[in-house]
Amino acid sequence: TGIYSSLFPLSDHLKFPSDPDLGIASFVLSQFPHPQVGESKVALIDSATNQQLTYAQLHRSIQSLACGLYHLGVRKGDVVFLLSPNSLLYPTICLAILSLGAILSPTNPINTPSEIAKQVLDSGAKLAISAPEELHKLLQTGVPTIITSRQSDEDSLSIEELIECCDPRELPETKVKQSDTAAILYSSGTTGTSKGVILTHSNFITTTRLVRWYAEATSSQNDIFLGFIPIFHIYGLAFFGVGLLTAGITTVLMPRFDLQAMLDAIQTHKVNNIPAVPPVILGLVKYCKGNSKLSTLRRVGSGAAPLSKELTDAFREQFPWVELRQGYGLTETCGATSGFVSHEEAKAHPGSCGMLLPTCCAKVVDTETGLALPPYRKGELWLNGPTTMKGYLGNEEATAATIAKDGWLKTGDLGYFDEDGFLYIVDRIKELIKHNGYQVAPAELEAVLLGHPDIVDAAVIPVEDEESGQIPMAYVVKAAASQLTEEQVIKFVATQVAPYKKVRRVEFINAIPKSAAGKILRKELILQSQQQILSK
Ligand code: AMP
Repeated sequence: TGIYSSLFPLSDHLKFPSDPDLGIASFVLSQFPHPQVGESKVALIDSATNQQLTYAQLHRSIQSLACGLYHLGVRKGDVVFLLSPNSLLYPTICLAILSLGAILSPTNPINTPSEIAKQVLDSGAKLAISAPEELHKLLQTGVPTIITSRQSDEDSLSIEELIECCDPRELPETKVKQSDTAAILYSSGTTGTSKGVILTHSNFITTTRLVRWYAEATSSQNDIFLGFIPIFHIYGLAFFGVGLLTAGITTVLMPRFDLQAMLDAIQTHKVNNIPAVPPVILGLVKYCKGNSKLSTLRRVGSGAAPLSKELTDAFREQFPWVELRQGYGLTETCGATSGFVSHEEAKAHPGSCGMLLPTCCAKVVDTETGLALPPYRKGELWLNGPTTMKGYLGNEEATAATIAKDGWLKTGDLGYFDEDGFLYIVDRIKELIKHNGYQVAPAELEAVLLGHPDIVDAAVIPVEDEESGQIPMAYVVKAAASQLTEEQVIKFVATQVAPYKKVRRVEFINAIPKSAAGKILRKELILQSQQQILSK
């Protein structure tokens, strides 16, 4: 049939709750205290402040905050926008929102005020929660906002105060169904600009179960995890917002990635386990050879972007005591859909993203004929399983183009399986650019470029980059007699988008190649850019 299923045995460790009246927050809290660790175990440590939260404290603060938010009028189905870097409060805020049946919509705190306003409007947020230093970015949205922690006397109500002053026993029960919407995360999918990905409680319950299963299969209960992967992204949300909390693990949370701070945190907290992204692996290989601070490190995961065989080999040679595993997933699948549990198998298959995780099925589809392909044949990867999103918010067209009627999700990634069921992702056929693991949508940058009075047409494509994976490059058609320079174009875009979305190369061109239907022929431009780079 051409359908690949998970080859991992479904053990007792992987029971998926079937009760339809179960929300993700109740599910996570029902796992506290983890039978082997007890509630006095430290769940979270803030690397910046060294503050700690035990599982008992976390449980209480989630329920107190849920109660506080309820008193403020947050009800089932309300969207709550979250603008903050990782912090000790972050998982509490997520789970408090979810326990009310309200919908979490987190965003990257380095986004610009206009990018944020767009998401607030699109998600229909009723309330926003913001780190104090980002509060100014929400002013123009007019949405009522609570800050996470108070900085001075004049500041308004804070999440910290709500947690302190609300009694969790006053929390009225909210009925949440597995099929209810839990979160709206943003992704551009295979084409166009950013869209709200609707993820359900059921999606998160499965993801949480998978993260716990993965943690139990690969790590020890005493392992210390390090969390700089942002929780606003599905990778961080799956691990640090929900999954690891059900495994009774201690996680050290960092507000953002910084190489030196990471090394210090590893040493201070004797970190063993790091979910990472390829640029972090490259940073370790390039700058941390022989660094004694890494002696406690045992396991590093890589996801969100391709990890090359060469980098994998270099890492293993330099850090032979560290297990390196690659996984693969999407926001649209609520996190990872493939990965390695066995280190031996990961070593034997460099460049592979592992095997399909339990519950996940896949097809490799020939993009010309639509036929499902056998092992070793490359095609578009389609996925099916209980973590598939419900669809894109308010965008039936994009939903129908992405999820086929029979439930298969078209990933826009090109790959193949080998005969033992190991997945290899070889290219991306969708427009998406990934810079340091973050999504950059070409259509969004093209719209910004077309806003320049001297720009007649524009197309944005990815250019491979050793440090960051890819950088956005713009092909620009300028108006006749315009004196516009490359630097001016770069600056023009940089003032309007978050730093990770900046156009970093510009080439002027007479016309953007397009199909008869007016679609930008990106592959042609990508080839052209590769030839230009080679000839320089
Ligand atoms: P996001 O929704 O931001 O997680 O982006 C998902 C996309 O990131 C996938 O569709 C892939 O294009 C890319 N991606 C994630 N993990 C990997 C991986 N291990 N190898 C190659 N590409 C990946």
